[in-house]
Amino acid sequence: MRLLLTNDDGIDSPGIAALAAAVAELGEVTVVAPDREQSAASHAITLSRPLRVQTLGERRFAVDGTPTDCVYLALNHLLKDARPDLVVSGINKGSNLADDVTYSGTVAAAVEAAMLGVPSFAISLAARPPWNFGPAARFARALAAEIGNGKIALPPQTLLNVNVPPRADVSRFAWTRLGRRSYGNMVEERRDPRGRSYYWIGGDELMHQNIPGSDCNALVDGGMISVTPLHLDVTAHGLLDAFSALSLPGFERGTV
Ligand code: MN
Repeated sequence: MRLLLTNDDGIDSPGIAALAAAVAELGEVTVVAPDREQSAASHAITLSRPLRVQTLGERRFAVDGTPTDCVYLALNHLLKDARPDLVVSGINKGSNLADDVTYSGTVAAAVEAAMLGVPSFAISLAARPPWNFGPAARFARALAAEIGNGKIALPPQTLLNVNVPPRADVSRFAWTRLGRRSYGNMVEERRDPRGRSYYWIGGDELMHQNIPGSDCNALVDGGMISVTPLHLDVTAHGLLDAFSALSLPGFERGTV
């Protein structure tokens, strides 16, 4: 099995080192990761400046770009003659639950892999320092092995988003849907020494909605690992059906 590992915390993060050590026995592991922290980079791709790739060792490359840049460069260039069977992104420092998936560079790297036709999952540790990546690393190895042997088959354009609770002895997981969480919409305004305003946005999670079957419920309330299948088609199919007969004054509705 060939594995590509990446992350958004940067190639020197202990999370990707723990992941690499855990999956090493499954096959050939290549690491292509950002040269610095890119958390909350989402699915950004670098189009306005050149990208540099630093070879740090055998099958270990740092990119001065985003997580998406890393996967794009790995699959379309560095590994194009021997594409990986699986891309794993993580282990992220901090959870990527619910709405987080839209901001997350960790999840975006797995999204990019799915777009480029390679099965993938993102894995995040819902904890605070001191980080214990052990349980998440063990789960990543188990999941990667099941994908490798075909028992878990990811259809095209799909990926898995995994979140692991902080408990060191966690051994239960649940298949989940995305939940909803709230960060309180915090905006902190301060003044710089020249009297101009500046802002810190985003905050700590305040609460999540009680949605049975959701990743938040499984992890926060249940203390379990959550595994959420995601797909790339974000079309609102129900709305498409509901709107399909609507017209707009002055415009003719076409069909495709
Ligand atoms: Mn991160």
